[in-house]
Amino acid sequence: MRIQIYDTTLRDGTQSESVAFSVEDKIRVARELDQVGVSYIEGGWPGSNEKDAEFFRRASSLTWHNARLSAFGSTARPRNSPHQDSNLKALLEASTPTVTLFGKSWDLHVTRALKIPLDKNLELIRDSVAYVKSQGREVIFDAEHFFDGLAANPDYAIAAIQAAADGGADTIVLCDTNGGRLTSHIRDGVRRAQTAVGLPLGIHTHNDGELAVANSLAAVECGVTQVQGTMNGYGERCGNANLCSIIPNLELKMGYSTIGRDRLPALARTSKFISQIANLPHRKDLPFVGDSAFAHKGGIHVSAVMKDTATYEHISPELVGNTRRVLVSELSGKSNLVYKAMEMGIQISDDNDALGVALQLLKKLENEGYEFEAAEASLRVLLETAIHGEPEFFAIENFRVVTEMRRDGEVTSEATVKIRLGEKVVHTVAEGDGPVHALDRALHNALHQFFEPLRHVQLTDYKVRVLDASDGTGARVRVLVQQSDGEESWTTVGVSENILEASYRALADGVKYKLLKDRVPAQGHVRSRTGVAFSAGS
Ligand SMILES: [Zn+2]
Repeated sequence: MRIQIYDTTLRDGTQSESVAFSVEDKIRVARELDQVGVSYIEGGWPGSNEKDAEFFRRASSLTWHNARLSAFGSTARPRNSPHQDSNLKALLEASTPTVTLFGKSWDLHVTRALKIPLDKNLELIRDSVAYVKSQGREVIFDAEHFFDGLAANPDYAIAAIQAAADGGADTIVLCDTNGGRLTSHIRDGVRRAQTAVGLPLGIHTHNDGELAVANSLAAVECGVTQVQGTMNGYGERCGNANLCSIIPNLELKMGYSTIGRDRLPALARTSKFISQIANLPHRKDLPFVGDSAFAHKGGIHVSAVMKDTATYEHISPELVGNTRRVLVSELSGKSNLVYKAMEMGIQISDDNDALGVALQLLKKLENEGYEFEAAEASLRVLLETAIHGEPEFFAIENFRVVTEMRRDGEVTSEATVKIRLGEKVVHTVAEGDGPVHALDRALHNALHQFFEPLRHVQLTDYKVRVLDASDGTGARVRVLVQQSDGEESWTTVGVSENILEASYRALADGVKYKLLKDRVPAQGHVRSRTGVAFSAGS
């Protein structure tokens, strides 16, 4: 059986305090949603702002392959008859096949917010729905605050959805607008609505009680055939029901068809795409589609997952387009390292002594404040060092960084670096926007003379985090450096009480990673001693 997925990311989702889309953004998001196969895309409220009206003007000239576009707006205003109401006029001018009208079903809102007699509101609902229907559109009626209304004045809430049915609505959507209802209320409300109107029903929930997904699924179990929600759960306050969780639950666990099993593997990409357009970090802990959803950290978990993934995974990540990740950390066992080495194309067997050395080094460094989850290039350097000994590409004789504030207020940084490579010694000076930038440039200027592959390497991101001071030591900083050669980006980590030393460690590790990756021959290898791989004098 098919459940309609009604996406309101572009309308309710933009009520989130951190989401704002331009018209161009909205078009891109809508195209992505159409491609992933949702049934409806609610594009906005054309009567409320010019941007949404512009979206519908542009959308009407595009071809939509899977989804029907819907324009959203309220029933006619109390003083107007429907055919004279500017809001309904804007809705019809949006030229969408579907119009979603919302109306009040909680008596409190009618008497307090609208300040009109209860019967007048029922008349507005019926007449507005009937008018939009008479213009040849499919009408979805959103019964705002339905579940709260049902608790306060059940007869009135039911009368409101009956008025929409009398007006000729195609689908009636029961809304938990304040998002505080429990699953038992939702089940009860859906059943009472089913008895009152013989129309297809939908559910629209918010996440204020963190039950939006559960409440939506419960409504489907009771017979609702349309689920409204947003991608990544974006929405006002605590968000709307998250379609990225609802879709796979319906498809994989409950046996319903939504976007179809063949399109399901596009879900993780769509979720990330939309957070990129919204310019928000993609939340790692999002179920199904987040980066951590199939990440394994504990050593016992990892060895079990390597034998059988069902031991610690509720579904296969590929089904929703996600991937399994094994994290290397203090909690790791050898299995994590073997798995990581395999991923990196490094051949190593379970019983290789180098694994023990690597694990010991890893734990020592993590104790000092290193973290390798976001710095896999440093991990690779560490593993290679444990296996083959430390590659001797170059040796640093010394570096010096000076930052000066001049009388005119301008601040400049200059770095000098002295590097030895066999018998040759190179001494370079470079200026930069800041001390780390200057150090990076001086280091690279020196190394370019020996290593061709480094010419294309650029520093692309730099992050510093101050770690807690403990046991009488000074505060340490952890530096993450991202470098890129235009084809690949990699991140390395350095920790020290001195920010420049931490930066140097991360930068030098990044250089080593690039040379190892490009299989540049080292002059030799020094047998690894714990800690050597990351010492500034290497
Ligand atoms: Zn809503």
